[in-house]
Amino acid sequence: MAIERTFSIVKPDGVRKNLIGAVYQRFEQAGLRVISARMLQLSQAHAEGFYGVHRERPFFKDLVKYMTSGPVMIQVLEGENAVAKNRELMGATDPKKAAAGTIRADFASSIEENVVHGSDSAENAAIEIAFFFAGSDLYPRAS
Ligand code: GDP
Repeated sequence: MAIERTFSIVKPDGVRKNLIGAVYQRFEQAGLRVISARMLQLSQAHAEGFYGVHRERPFFKDLVKYMTSGPVMIQVLEGENAVAKNRELMGATDPKKAAAGTIRADFASSIEENVVHGSDSAENAAIEIAFFFAGSDLYPRAS
């Protein structure tokens, strides 16, 4: 199976609830490696650009407000089947529909405040990684 990269965010509610370590533990236990990470406060422009595909959705304004409500932790994950594996670890968008044992089932408080973001395809992963990280910021495992 191919080694892939995906982009992940511990969203403001996750950082507020002190869940960075708990989320990272899920990644690492599943064999995903954090190859770059940093904490930042998203600007309005960053959040609007990042979630541009949702611009026409009724929840867009609230989503931008939520995503800029405090610092986030952003990371690039690398591993076998990383995109799908991370989506599996996260669980469904709505925590009420998320499978037991997933990050969102265990920690999310609503369909909006759902602790984590993860790229939904390899194509979007490449776009999202490039949105936040320079290639020289990524530290793949030496082999
Ligand atoms: P994801 O890929 O599972 O994160 O889901 P989407 O790409 O569909 O939505 C992006 C983010 O927008 C979600 O993670 C939520 O934070 C938020 N969101 C999605 N659907 C809704 C909704 O119906 N209401 C609100 N308030 N927020 C939503």
